[in-house]
Amino acid sequence: MRNRWDDSQIREMDELDKLVYMSRLIGEDPSLVLWGGGNTSIKITERDFRDREVPAMWIKGSGSDLKSMVRRQFPRLNLDDILPLFQREDMSDEDMVAYLESCLMDPGSPRPSIETLLHAFLPFMSVAHSHADAVVALTNNHDAEAVLKRVYGDEVAVVEYLRPGFKLSKLVGLALKQTPSFRGVVLVNHGLFTWGDDTKSAYEQHIELVCKAEEYISSGSKKVFGGPRQQPLDSRQRRRTAAAAAPALRGLVSQNRPMVLRFDDSPEVLEFISSEHGQRLSAIGPATPDHLIHTKRKPLWLEVSDPGNTQTVSQALRDGITRYVDEYSQWYRAHTSEENPMKHPMLDPYPRVVLLPGVGMWTTGKDALAAQITADIYHHTINVIGSAQSVGDYTSLTAQDAYDAEYWPLELYKLTLAPPEKELARRVALITGAANGIGKAIALRLAAEGAHVAVTDVDAEGCRDVAADIIAANGPGRAVALPMDVASEQQVSEAFQEVRRAYGGLDILVSNAGIAPVGAIDSLSPADWQRALDINTTGHFLVAAEAIRIMKEQGTGGSLVFIGTKNVPAPGADFGAYSVSKAAEVQLARVIAIENGQFGIRSNVVNPDAIFQGSRLWSEEIRQERANAHGVPVEKLEEFYQQRNLLKAQVYAEDVAEAVLFLASDRSAKTTGAMMPVDGGVREAFPR
Ligand code: ZN
Repeated sequence: MRNRWDDSQIREMDELDKLVYMSRLIGEDPSLVLWGGGNTSIKITERDFRDREVPAMWIKGSGSDLKSMVRRQFPRLNLDDILPLFQREDMSDEDMVAYLESCLMDPGSPRPSIETLLHAFLPFMSVAHSHADAVVALTNNHDAEAVLKRVYGDEVAVVEYLRPGFKLSKLVGLALKQTPSFRGVVLVNHGLFTWGDDTKSAYEQHIELVCKAEEYISSGSKKVFGGPRQQPLDSRQRRRTAAAAAPALRGLVSQNRPMVLRFDDSPEVLEFISSEHGQRLSAIGPATPDHLIHTKRKPLWLEVSDPGNTQTVSQALRDGITRYVDEYSQWYRAHTSEENPMKHPMLDPYPRVVLLPGVGMWTTGKDALAAQITADIYHHTINVIGSAQSVGDYTSLTAQDAYDAEYWPLELYKLTLAPPEKELARRVALITGAANGIGKAIALRLAAEGAHVAVTDVDAEGCRDVAADIIAANGPGRAVALPMDVASEQQVSEAFQEVRRAYGGLDILVSNAGIAPVGAIDSLSPADWQRALDINTTGHFLVAAEAIRIMKEQGTGGSLVFIGTKNVPAPGADFGAYSVSKAAEVQLARVIAIENGQFGIRSNVVNPDAIFQGSRLWSEEIRQERANAHGVPVEKLEEFYQQRNLLKAQVYAEDVAEAVLFLASDRSAKTTGAMMPVDGGVREAFPR
């Protein structure tokens, strides 16, 4: 670990800015803290609202992330109000949180970190706290006391595992009172606190103590997981197995609420899951309690003799999930106390981390980011286990401590503060022809409602632009760009394999891609005719078949929405190839509704008309041809269509997207085999 402090960066800064700088230095190093872990503080004299000088502490607010801290994420508390608490014997979490709320100097500032009292009771200007992998690896060890003594001598205080709160804070404060020469505090199963007369020395002391742990670990033995037990499958086989097994797994872990999956077969994961001791070590427990919130106490380890065989893997998944849920429920019942009036109902009993030896790791979450956070944390769990093994024997929290961490009322309270989920949250949608026009409007609309979107189109660059827009607006992982031609069986198959790997499955298909060749039947070339059938009929067949297979493997239903056209019920002259091929698409949609109702899979059609904006369908040639057919000048064509409908409305791609959203969502849960016009009202095109 490198000391990254740079004096030239802080020359003009006030103390709070220096705290921001130090926080980011710590936050940017994932071997120190991950996703919201750790905290930092300073104590300086400030003026309160009555302009009196008071001793104040700035500390990281709860729920913020060190790597991206800004000034307003640090609440300011009056230490004169806090320090008398040190005289108390005990204090409940709820009382502590309420008390600290009263110590805030600025109304409306964020809730201070749960470790605020610990910072306050350390009599130093600046305090830094991390969950450094190397330090945790030393503490999560059968022989922790001796190991820590060897590494740190009498430099640090070692405090046994206790959940953050009053008791732990007081214990640390007392340790420092007794031995003011300590340079840091190591909290077992948790992390490291250091301090200094300024932010720089708190940081440098931190890095120095972490470096000592790292040096000690690197002097340990190397074969940490007992060497390989089996060879991983080759990369192609791993990817194939992952794609084949993911939807069944997603269905199994989504029985309460849909989950998004993420597949990971990086070298570190493969080494661990293919090792001699991986299974035993993975069952010991998490590196720290705050990891367990994301990963649960234990991963699901699948035992499969032939991981390349999809049948065997599917069976192992079903058995494994049943076993996991049983064990989780037993653990919950054994540790929840019947008399406890605060007893919380059992949380979702499904694994967040699933390890398949020879293949890789799936992590699950409410969205792609949550699944990624869990994966990041498990990478560090593997690292901590490996480091602990290299200097001793890995241990973790007791089953009761793990229960108390997962069912900690303060943590559960945080969950209730999360904003309500959007309508399509946790769902995965694939949209064809999504680089522009109607398809793009649908992709943006479904994403804005919380869906993860696979953006597909023959226009690869357009695909990537739309996916990038969705990610910028809605967050990391919320879209993938998958260029494909719907008429190519191979390209369709590959894109769906990618979706299986990217999100673990699919809930919504919007089959939209289409073309519109112009010409009377006796003047159409057979090639144009065939191309219309390939894209407007076979294209829908190919993507629908792939989507239905995934949905059946998941066993959680699904919704298919086909973009038809007003021309199906009301065809026009010189548009034969289009009208015929689109009519076949609609018939396909109805057959799908008939065949798949029993699986909860719905299939509906939206019939738009005259959507000009951003559409590739309306080429110059078609505009000219349609203008001629209707006997209007080409520049009056849009007005002509507008005047033709009952509402005299211009119809936009967004109007179509709104109808698709309705049919994709559970609001239309009882509708299948239907056709919905979005055309401003065209009498001859009324569905009948
Ligand atoms: Zn902590």
